[in-house]
Amino acid sequence: MNESEPGTSERGAVPALRFGVHYSSPDIQPGSIGAAIADAHAAAARDVAKHGADLGNTVAMVRDAHREVDSLRGATFRDALQAGERVPVCAEGCFYCCHVQVAAAIPEVIALADHIETSGRRDDVLAAIARYLEQLGDRMGTARVVANVACPLLRDGRCSVYDHRPLSCRGHSSFDVAPCERAWRQPGFDIVVDSFGGWRHPSLGAVVGLSAASGALGLEYFTVYLPEALRIALELGADEANRRWRAGERVFEGARVGVA
Ligand code: SF4
Ligand code: SF4
Repeated sequence: MNESEPGTSERGAVPALRFGVHYSSPDIQPGSIGAAIADAHAAAARDVAKHGADLGNTVAMVRDAHREVDSLRGATFRDALQAGERVPVCAEGCFYCCHVQVAAAIPEVIALADHIETSGRRDDVLAAIARYLEQLGDRMGTARVVANVACPLLRDGRCSVYDHRPLSCRGHSSFDVAPCERAWRQPGFDIVVDSFGGWRHPSLGAVVGLSAASGALGLEYFTVYLPEALRIALELGADEANRRWRAGERVFEGARVGVA
């Protein structure tokens, strides 16, 4: 059975590339979504509690979440393959979905800023974010989704932070690259990409888990637009952004999804 995401069930309602979820994978059925999210939430909460408050520990927490999700992605891929189910065709270097808005959990943004700083790319990425925001203009809501502006971390058709990319990017998938390319070439048309629940659910579950666990500690917990949030983190510096966030300050309000 294929099914669109909640709130996007009617084709034509929102003219954009979006991802419907394919539920036929043997281990990932609709009823397991809540369980996957709850598991990821619990794992993230354990991680937030286990790791301390310094930058290195925030980075370790995010790496743990990414590792767990990658492990689940591999397992559901193998399960589907063995069961003769369709599997995603996604691979590093495929970039059409990098033109859809990317949201992330706050600790992911801080960890990514740290990676970019240590790679010596801070100024380069800040300049790319400035160009991105200029192209995006004042588009909000659906207009923002259909803007078809490349993620500022895309370089020459490749993700420049692939191993460190956010959970939401790890959750994108398609059984066929053609609809992704069509949506990229014809933004504004309503194209639903049939995506693999075995990747989608663990990724979304982990985003919710990281955010909910942050909220439980009294920290900012909402999801943020990656470009705006990364700009905040890079301008402050990853260490300072982390220090303020872990002290309970409102650091990323301007990047909050639905506000920025
Ligand atoms: S979701 Fe589509 S565009 Fe993205 S990696 Fe997969 S096939 Fe490529
Ligand atoms: S972070 Fe990487 S994978 Fe995610 S949208 Fe940007 S370029 Fe694509």
